[in-house]
Amino acid sequence: MADCQEDAPFVDETAFSSLMFITKRPPITMVEGRGSWLYDQNGKVYLDFIQGWAVNCLGHSPKVVADAIARQAYRLISPSPAFYNDQALKLADLLVANSCCQRVFFANCGAEANEGAIKLARKWGSVHRNGAFEIITMVNGFHGRTLATMSASGKPPWRDLFEPKVPGFVKVPLNDLEAVAQAISDRTVAVMLEPIQGEAGVIPASGEFLHGLRRLTREKGMLLIFDEVQTGMGRTGSLFSYQRTGVEPDIMTLGKGIGAGVPLAALLAKEDACCFEPGDQGGTYNGNPVMAAAGIAVMQELLAPGFLEQVRAMGEVLRQGLQALSQKHVLGEVRGEGLLLALSLPDANGNDIVERARDKGLIINAARPETLRFMPALNVSEEEIATCLTILDEILSAGRL
Ligand SMILES: *Cc1c(COP(=O)(O)O)cnc(C)c1O
Repeated sequence: MADCQEDAPFVDETAFSSLMFITKRPPITMVEGRGSWLYDQNGKVYLDFIQGWAVNCLGHSPKVVADAIARQAYRLISPSPAFYNDQALKLADLLVANSCCQRVFFANCGAEANEGAIKLARKWGSVHRNGAFEIITMVNGFHGRTLATMSASGKPPWRDLFEPKVPGFVKVPLNDLEAVAQAISDRTVAVMLEPIQGEAGVIPASGEFLHGLRRLTREKGMLLIFDEVQTGMGRTGSLFSYQRTGVEPDIMTLGKGIGAGVPLAALLAKEDACCFEPGDQGGTYNGNPVMAAAGIAVMQELLAPGFLEQVRAMGEVLRQGLQALSQKHVLGEVRGEGLLLALSLPDANGNDIVERARDKGLIINAARPETLRFMPALNVSEEEIATCLTILDEILSAGRL
């Protein structure tokens, strides 16, 4: 998130633009993108290993998505959510056919999908569990920026923001099954977590923890909710991250990559968990056919033979390259799966490295001051990975920052 760059040089944004000042940004205006490459208003070119925060899964302005959007825009932009549309129906079928869930609700962003997951869990608690409503979430977890999803998140700097928060969230440390067991009461209806914590610095939930959560939630008659907004849609080398461990959630949310850059997200649920009644959930743009057309194009690309194998292969190339850099420059561990990777730094100088990289035409992110994060396009090439590693090597070789 942009708010991880709190040490970036101060720009008086009130002078720079009429936008509300919500984060410090460099005075760079991006005007064009193609695949892994992004161009600013001065024609400077950047190799983009952030891709809109893991959003542009097929790189910048991929032709299949641009064509799908244009085709659908000329055909039908919005029939209103009071009617079915063929694009939303088709995308829902594709998601159901390729996941453990049977029902889909489309949303406009990850936070809204998670807000829907929270509502669905509370509804399920009122129907099946005598009004249980509490949801156990993880310390350092990130679920979005609506009031309920900020309340569900475990980001320490948010603790005192926008009080009073939405009640009903109990936080426990990631990978601590005993803490989850201790936190369960008659009021508890679900456990919600990211299979790999993204904003926290790419911290994986262990397979043991996920299996343990599945067992525990079954025993106690609770729901298991996976926020796959960042890990889903091929990012970790399988279509959904839960497929790595085989632990199936009852409810899953998707965002980011699902729209390849346009506002699209989804709330998926198993039939048993799906208890919304008419009037419980909705929205003006939800299931919009132009966004759904983009989602269909994304699904077709991700499901094409060899695509996910290539993600895993490139993930391995990047991982090995980062490991070599880490050895050479005496840095920390490399974490993550597929093309969601992080490199630990011995010092909290991630933001300096991010800035030096940007000057040299490479866009990366410091998810934490001591963690560099890499989320290139899923169709990134081996050559582009080599270029990224070369630039990083130059920066790290330039001596202590
Ligand atoms: C980005 C993110 C969100 C929020 O998605 P928005 O589209 O920004 O609302 C929620 N959960 C996770 C795990 C994310 O990475």
